[in-house]
Amino acid sequence: MSAREKFLENSFMSLTKMTKFHKSPTCPLSNDLLAFQTGKIALREKERITVHLRFCEFCASEVEFYAHYPQADELVEKTEIPQPLFELAEALLSNKHRDNSLLKRLFNQADESKFTDF
Ligand SMILES: [Zn+2]
Repeated sequence: MSAREKFLENSFMSLTKMTKFHKSPTCPLSNDLLAFQTGKIALREKERITVHLRFCEFCASEVEFYAHYPQADELVEKTEIPQPLFELAEALLSNKHRDNSLLKRLFNQADESKFTDF
């Protein structure tokens, strides 16, 4: 990359940073950021991203996020979420729907009993 291109890229990134907090077309892919965070990345890419992070708050935040919440595929096995908790979460989510229909049925019954009580 020429000095001029680099200058343009940096200007663009600074502008992006000032105006909007989102990824720009010059941002590394999330996979690259993840690889950067986990250290499984080529030295050249590492340097590129290191430079990018100085200008891009969004990507810096993303790397920070990965540091706290590992996303790598190989980490899935080591996930700290216990199976019972996962099942509980699932049950709660499906219960939401069941509760909703139960509530509807309850209302219907209440209406019916209102009529029969009269
Ligand atoms: Zn970025």
